[in-house]
Amino acid sequence: MNFIPQNMNFIFALIEAENKEDRIYHGTEWMSYWLKFKKKCGENGCIIFDIDDTLIDSKEKSIKSMIRLYKLCISLGFTVNIITARPDTHANRKYTERLLKSKGIHEYEALYMMPANMSDKITSYKLSSYKFNARNDISTRHKILANCGDMWTDHVKSISKYKHLQERDINECAILFPEQYPCLKLPGTYQK
Ligand SMILES: [Mg+2]
Repeated sequence: MNFIPQNMNFIFALIEAENKEDRIYHGTEWMSYWLKFKKKCGENGCIIFDIDDTLIDSKEKSIKSMIRLYKLCISLGFTVNIITARPDTHANRKYTERLLKSKGIHEYEALYMMPANMSDKITSYKLSSYKFNARNDISTRHKILANCGDMWTDHVKSISKYKHLQERDINECAILFPEQYPCLKLPGTYQK
């Protein structure tokens, strides 16, 4: 396993390993050290998780090392918030809450879902601003300690201002600091 730094105006290192599972695992190991370090510094705050291709895969199976990272956040006494682009309808919210609960995820503070009227004709711009606004809302209550998600739009305010990220492979796994806190970018899958 290797961390391969890239030349950017913020800290950015690709995580390389034999396969996707191992790359995610090494990302979660890095995050575990970071969060334990934050705890030892006496800090309190919130960790943000996306759902699809972050806590669960495309078949809605648990991504084990990510579920462990979620559990670590809870056991360290940190707050967790979940931000997903799944459309916010009553049925969908119930379904998603039940799905998360079946994976042992129920101690989160809030589940942010994309307003249903925003969810047709989704663009990268819409996605990144919706997620940015949700993070802003969380930051009125907590200091954000880390953010985990599989899309570049999970991590930056306006993807159009980060052309170099938009052009990168969505499959990449990386640790990056576009803000004051680290982001774990998991390998994503291309949307159809
Ligand atoms: Mg996702």
